This record gives sequence, structure tokens and C-alpha cells, in this order.
Amino acid sequence: MADMGMFHALGQNDDPNDPNSRHNVAPPHFRAQPAPPPAGYQQAGAPSFVGQQPQPQYGLPPQPSPYQQQQSPHGAPPPSISPYPPPQQHSPYGPPQNAYGPPQQQHGGYDPVGGLAQQMSQVDLMSQQVGTVSKAFKKKGRAYHQLDQSPDAMGGGPNMPPFSPNVGDNLQPGFLMHQQQSMVSPMTPGGTQFPMQAGPNFMPQHPGSSGVSSTGGKIDPLLIPSIPAARDRAIEHFRTTVFPTNSRLAPPNASSDFIAIDQQNASPRICRLTMNAVPTTAEVLNMTHLPLALQIQPLAKPKPGEEPIPVLDFGEMGPPRCRRCRTYINPFMTFVAGGSKFQCNMCLFPNNEVPSEYYSPIDMSGGRMDREQRPELMRGTVEFVVPKEYWVKKYDSLPPADGKGGYPMRYLFLIDATEGAINRGSLEATVAGIREALYGESAYEDVAEGEVSEDGTKRRLPEGCKVSICTFDKEVHFYNLNPSLDQAQMVVMPDIEEPFLPFQEGLFVDPYESRSVIEHLLDNLPSFFVHLKNPEPALLPALTAALSALEKTGGKIICSLSTLPTWGPNRLVLREDTKIYGTDKEKTLFKTEQVAWRMVAGKMVEAGVGVDFFMTPSAYIDLAAIGHVAATTGGETFFYPNFVKERDSKKLADELCHTFHRATGYQALMKVRCSNGLQVTAYHGNFFQTGVSSADVEFSNIDEDKAVAVMFSHDGKLDPKLDAHFQSALLYTTKSGERRVRCSNVVAAVTEQVRDVVRWADQDAVLGVMAREAASRMIEKPLKEIRGALTEKCVEILAAYRKHCSSASGNPPGQLILPESLKEFSMYVLALLKCRGFRGGSVSSDLRVHSMRMLKAMSALELQLYLYPRIIPIHNMADNDGFAEPSGHLKLPAAMRASFAFAEEGGVYLVDNGQYLLLWLHSQVSPNLLVDLFGEGYDNLAALDPKMHQLPVLQTALNAQVRNIIQFLASQRCSRKVSLQLARQGLDGAEYEFAQALVEDRNNDERSYVDWLVHVHKYIQLEMSGQRKKDEGIGAGIDMAAGMAGLRPHYW
Ligand SMILES: [Zn+2]
Repeated sequence: MADMGMFHALGQNDDPNDPNSRHNVAPPHFRAQPAPPPAGYQQAGAPSFVGQQPQPQYGLPPQPSPYQQQQSPHGAPPPSISPYPPPQQHSPYGPPQNAYGPPQQQHGGYDPVGGLAQQMSQVDLMSQQVGTVSKAFKKKGRAYHQLDQSPDAMGGGPNMPPFSPNVGDNLQPGFLMHQQQSMVSPMTPGGTQFPMQAGPNFMPQHPGSSGVSSTGGKIDPLLIPSIPAARDRAIEHFRTTVFPTNSRLAPPNASSDFIAIDQQNASPRICRLTMNAVPTTAEVLNMTHLPLALQIQPLAKPKPGEEPIPVLDFGEMGPPRCRRCRTYINPFMTFVAGGSKFQCNMCLFPNNEVPSEYYSPIDMSGGRMDREQRPELMRGTVEFVVPKEYWVKKYDSLPPADGKGGYPMRYLFLIDATEGAINRGSLEATVAGIREALYGESAYEDVAEGEVSEDGTKRRLPEGCKVSICTFDKEVHFYNLNPSLDQAQMVVMPDIEEPFLPFQEGLFVDPYESRSVIEHLLDNLPSFFVHLKNPEPALLPALTAALSALEKTGGKIICSLSTLPTWGPNRLVLREDTKIYGTDKEKTLFKTEQVAWRMVAGKMVEAGVGVDFFMTPSAYIDLAAIGHVAATTGGETFFYPNFVKERDSKKLADELCHTFHRATGYQALMKVRCSNGLQVTAYHGNFFQTGVSSADVEFSNIDEDKAVAVMFSHDGKLDPKLDAHFQSALLYTTKSGERRVRCSNVVAAVTEQVRDVVRWADQDAVLGVMAREAASRMIEKPLKEIRGALTEKCVEILAAYRKHCSSASGNPPGQLILPESLKEFSMYVLALLKCRGFRGGSVSSDLRVHSMRMLKAMSALELQLYLYPRIIPIHNMADNDGFAEPSGHLKLPAAMRASFAFAEEGGVYLVDNGQYLLLWLHSQVSPNLLVDLFGEGYDNLAALDPKMHQLPVLQTALNAQVRNIIQFLASQRCSRKVSLQLARQGLDGAEYEFAQALVEDRNNDERSYVDWLVHVHKYIQLEMSGQRKKDEGIGAGIDMAAGMAGLRPHYW
């Protein structure tokens, strides 16, 4: 696997004439490094299965059944033509003959897509390649990159494997070498950056969408772009291939589980530009209607197999920076004057002195001779230890004695101990989560920052980190956890009008030193409060008290809450008002006007204190007001409406444990710099910003799961001979109390051509930015307007492509032509319109606000799944599905498209949207399947326990396959942990979630996918013919959206 040794090896065979060619000649193992296998899958043929009959036992149900003669392993209808995916050879469970014809059965309440094809009769869907090679790119003396390449150099032409450009290229042995040799040019000493211009054949057709056309006046809906097919291809591709970040390939599909090799350019896991070819001017950008933005997840956790982020210490000198614009040293700075000066890649200032400690002679190519030993010149993302001027400067007595510039992290658990928390079991679940976080076995599985103490104690928490435990009902209770005590001493703070800290000594302790005291307390907390049972929590006083405990050091509050805090000063009231749903006033429910709550949030930012909430309400809880504190401080709200103790406790405990241990920085400040000619216009995410125009954002806390978006605009013209550069710098305190700056550098080509911008657009980033922007507007604009603006944006982008890129290619005007890079874009936009945050109809404000704040912080992968879930059929798996392949990777069955038309009778599906994991079971499911999955005695749906959250461990192949798949899905999760929830057809409320998850169908107050494409296409045609008047509008919201056009960014 990748290690530092490999990193150095990348430069060993450099062409002496090309300082950047080190990645051109990579060691052999670099080219086809497979993703590491997820460990621990139960193997097929493992001893436990000896003597077990393998699969097709479901074909013999115990009693005669209408499905039994169908050779079905699970009691299925007759095999027939599979719409998608191609049926497995031995799958006897083919879907209905015509999934889009009249439904063969009534599927209670669902709306299959059937019948809608007629509406497509005038429409000709065609996904096609991006235009032809532009000669405009033939420029001499290009300083940094060269876009001209023959198609063959990118593997275009007939040998190009049928992968989407989003999944990179297949780096066959020899291929990379050929490609890179062709790029080495004496005229381009700086080497080339991606992307490069590829020939018309570079964009291969997707098998799932190529050749889509009208036949007999009808469209085959099966051939519209398929998200599951694109994902499955991407996953498959990156099992045998890595993603080298300077490969000039479009970044991988976020769901592809790729391994990135950092070659000067930051990994797409950390930084994604909406376009990897940036237009020279605002005019060209406006023609594309795409946002120019960067989605950044600065602390994203490297995948197993990826190299850790190097931490560099330049001592008192600090990392070298541009004197003029303060950009940090990075691989794209050029050293001149014999190595004594360097030129900035952002502002081009040429006269930066190289400090004598940092001097190195340069070789004939102009590169520093020591560059291969300098990670800051070789890697896109590095971390610098910062000198004293960046240390935390608050209160003269600080910074602390250990000399790293900040305090080791302090955690304060603030536990709701009211009647509701006790009755619903969330107090017990919270306590279990804390115990797991501090002392559980899983807390040590993945020791990233921890160590082993001198006394042999394994500790995942870095030395110096401390914890405190408080509880609250209508009072706040502190606990003295001093290790010398036999048991914790509770100190009640009855004065909630003016909360204060009753004592200092023993409030924060080392959890390993005080283990017996803490464990005793956790053991007794639930039973202690059983006798008190105060119904009303005084949350704001509790938060104020917690803040005063952390005021001087900063830190993190992990707070549970089970009910609306109706006690004490600044208590909240039930202000949910269903009568204003759907009106202009609805947005008032999404924010808080309570000054005290906003003030506490502001003070927490000042102190560097973040809050994560774990909410388990049974009714309205005013998530808008309470969650505001979490969102402003860079925290997160975990929301469990309808918390069921037996089913949800494990999930809550797991997620609490995760928030405690995930990589977290605090007292953080982020600044993004960009090339001359561009400027930062806005940030979108969960953080604190002092003013609208502020160039920096502050995070009390920022963790590995959080991403933000930064918007740019042109304030000048970019030089097409140079690249566009971006650098994000996050100054923060690590858990162990060290002040550092994490720098990530991204580079993009500069182009004068609209088609290049679109060709190199990154669908995941565009969606992430649009979702964040839309979520940011929820408190200002009515939802109807936001939906209108999203629709408008989708039409504008696709129409612009049609107008500027594909009109000259001889495509009939009646065809809908989608850019290859944004092929699934329209489906994702539809899914965005259907998500809880934005959908029409009645949705409680708690759910909407929760969705909005999640959207603002989600990683690219989480957003994809949240919008369009992964649906995996498990009733017709091949024998080797769900088991590890020889490479160690789990073989997955092809995912199902999110439409009920594809759901098979008797079928069973895992539905993963990154938040929940449903197991949907058709009412006609085979009894044999149920017994194999759940055990003896469970041969009908009614016998299953609706509160189960995991599968039993059985000695059947099916059970092992499904548990393996669930384990795989769990390995893909970020902040939300996997917990199984049953959705039995006709029995469970969770079936409603399943229905909503089928986003290709008409539901959630929106159209079906096919209807949506018809709709979008209609407006594109109007736009093309110049007949579309914006004020006639798409839906009701469009005229208002047009009215927002003057606001920044330009499409609002
Ligand atoms: Zn500069």
C-alpha cells in the first residue's frame, strides 16, 4: 500500500529537464494499485458453511405457492426481459416484462413510471460527446500546461474502456507512460496540469445511455442516464485503479471509493472544483451558467491505502509565504534567481526572498534540487506547524505551558436527564455512547491520535485531553470526577438565572485516570434520575454553564436533548404553525429571533467551543433555534424523531462515539486564496462569518465529515497561458493542542472555450455548491422560489450546453443532449427538489431545518446518497455476490434504479441513503428467504420484530451475504452510522421512507424522472428558439427567481 517510501520513489526517475515530470515515471505498483479490501468479510465456503446447501433453496417453498413453478429461488414471477441491469445468468427472478408499460399489479400507492412514455413522443433523448477539438488551444510557450493532446494520449479511440470520464481512466501498464511522455515538452518546463484537451472520442458513451433515441415515437425510459449504473461502473473501475491527482482526468465519482495519490494537486476527497477548466472571463463563465466554486472538506479522512497528510515544522521561521498575498509555499511556486527568490503562483509577485534556512540551489530545469525531500513542494495537501504569532491569544495567562500553541481538547458531555429522556431511553443510550467512546473496545480499533501511556493504558484520546460530565433537567448538575474520590460528587447549580461554575478542581479530568469514578457515575446516572423525573429541561442555562466551563480553553460540548426546553430564562415555546406551511411566512420557522440563543452561539465562537446535539424528541423541539447553536459553531445535530429505544439506541451510541473520536480541529479560521483575476465572493456552510463580505470564516469546531463551499467570480481576466490556482488554508488547534495550518492546493486549466468548461465540470461539486446555496437561502426566500431557482438553474446549464457546445454538431433540434460530464445532473436536481429541505407539501419545520443544515455541511459522497439512495436487491443474488473476491473486495449485486417499476414481486432490498438503512420486504417474499435471513421460526413478515436493528448471525449463505453487504455500506459512512430498519410492505411506517426514496417516480410533490426530462427539455427548446420568457416561468416560482437575478451569486 501507499506509504512515504512510495512518495519519494515517485521522483526517482525524473527527467532532469522537467521538474514536474516526477509523476510521469511512476514505479510499477503505482499504476494499478487496487483499493484496499474491506477487512473481515465472512468468506463464502468458510467452515461455517460446510455442509450447507448453497443457494437455490428458495425455489422450494414449503407449501405450494403461485410462484413455486417459476424456478425462483425466492418465489418470484416468471423470468422475463430485465430492464436493468442485465439479468444475471442464473437469476430466475427477472423483472416484469415491460416495466414501463401498464403496471402488472397494483402496488399500493406507488406510482410506477408506466404510461409516461407517451409524453416523450416528441422528444429525442440523446446523450452525446462533447464537440470537437478546438484548435484555439494550440498555443506556443504555454507556461504551465498544454491542453493540446491527441485523443490517443488519453486513451481515446476504440481502445478506451467504456468508463465515464468521471471515473478516471484505466491505467493499463504502459498507458500512463505513453500518455506522459507525449506531454513532456521542452517548451513547457513547468510540466502540464490537467485537464488536457482530448479528442472527440475521449468521452466514451455510457452503456446505459448511448444510442438513446426515439423508436416508434416513444422514448425508452430505461435508456435515460442511470445513476446506479454510473456508480456501479465507477466502483468497479476503482477496484483496480488509483486516481493520481495530476492525471488530468476528471475527478472520480464521489461514490466510487477511489484511492487518490496526491501529486501536488489536492485529492478530490478534500477539494473539488465545479470546473477543472476555468474560463478566462466572466462572460465565458456566464455563458455556461455553471457556478465557479470550490467544495472543500479540509479535514477529510484519508482512505486506508492513501498516504497520511505530512506535518511540517519550519520552526520559528514558519512556512514560507508570499510577501504580497500571503499564499503559503506550495508546489506551484517557481524558484528563480538561482533559488534565492520565488514567484507566487497566485499573485505572480516575483520578488519573494527565500529565507537562508530554506535555500536550495536549482537545477537546470529550474526546479529546486531538494524538491523530492520537500513534501510542501510535492503534495497538494500538507500541514504546517505554525510559529507563535498564530497561537491562541486570549487571556494573558495563555497559551498553555506545553508550548504547542493551544490547549488539548476538552470535552463536556451535557446530558438531558429529564423525564422524557428517561422514559424514551435516550438517557441510557447517551450514557452507553459515552461509555463506548471512553472505554469501549471499538474506541481503540482505529487509533489515529492516541497512544499507549507509560502505565500501559491504551488511550485513543491524545495526552492532555480532558472530559467533564454534566446533567440537566430544570437545574444543572456538575460532577467532581477527581480520581482520588471513591465516587463522583454531584454539585447542583440551582441558580439558572445566572449560571456559574461551582468548582474547578475535578471538573475536567483525564478519563483514564478517573476511569473508576466515571464508570461508576455512568452506571448510576439512569437510575438516579428515575426518582426525580423533572419534565422540563432548562437547556440554555445548561449551555451557558457549559460555556463558562470551557470559556478559557475552548473545546466541545456533546449535548443530548429529548424535549422542547420549556424551563428557565429564554425557554422556547411551541411555535410550529402548520397554517403557514407553503406561505411566505414559512421561512420564519427556519430561523430563530431569540437573541439569547444567538448570543450564546456568538460567545461560543469567540471561545472556540462547538456543540453537537443528539436530539430524540417525540414532538416539535424547535430545531431551528437550538440547532442554530450547533450550526454556528461548526457542530452537528443528530436528529432521531420517533426514537425507539430498542431500535435506535445502538445508532445513537455509535454516532456519539464517532463524534467524540473523529478528527476535529477547533478555534479554526479558514481563508481561501485564488489566482489574480478571480476573487472569493461567498462561503456556504455551517460556520460563523463576521460580515457578509468577510474574507475569512470561523469554525469553533470543524471535523473530518464537514465540507464547505467557496464561490468565486472574475474581477479581471485570466491568462489562458497560465493555470488557475486555489489554496485553502485552515488554521486550527488539533485535539492534542497543537496550532497548525492545513493547506490544500488545487490547480485548474484556463480556457476561452465554453465547451471545455462544461467538459471538465465536476457534477458532484456543482451539486454540492447548488445544494449549499439553496439551503443558505431557506431563511430568506420562500421555498417555492428556491425550487424555482433550482429548476431554472438546471435548465440554464443544460440549455447553455445545447446552445454553445452541441448545436453545431448536426444534432436534430428535437434532441435533448446532455453533456457527458453532467449526465446525471438533471436527475440529481430533481432529487434535490424532492429532498426534505426543499420539497413541496407539508413537512415539519424541524425536519426541514435539519435537512437544510445537513445539506450545508455534507461531503460529496453523503450528498449523492442523500439525494439518490443506493438500492441493492438481495433476493436474487448470485452465489458469489456479497462475498469477497480474490482481490479482497466485496462483490456487490448491481444496484436498482430508484423507481418502483424496478421493484420485483417478492423482492427484498437494502436501501441506503447515507442516513438510514432500510430493509424493504415485498409482501409476497418467499418464506424460505425469510428463514435464511432471520432464522427458524421467521417464515412470514408478521413474525419479524419491527424493532430489530441488525441481522442475527446465522449459518446460511444469504445471511452472511447480506451482513457482508451491510458491513460494506457501513464502511462508506461518514457521520451517520449504519443501523438496519425494517420496512415490510403493508406493515411498517418506514415503508413511507422507502416510497420517498424512490426518487425516479412521481412523488414528494414532484414529477417522475421521465416527466422531469420532458419538462426540462421543453424549456431548453424554448430557450434555444428564443421563445422562453423567464417571467412566464417554470412552475410558479420562476418569475420570483428571475427577480433575484441581481443578487450574488448571479443566479439568485
Ligand atoms: Zn502572492
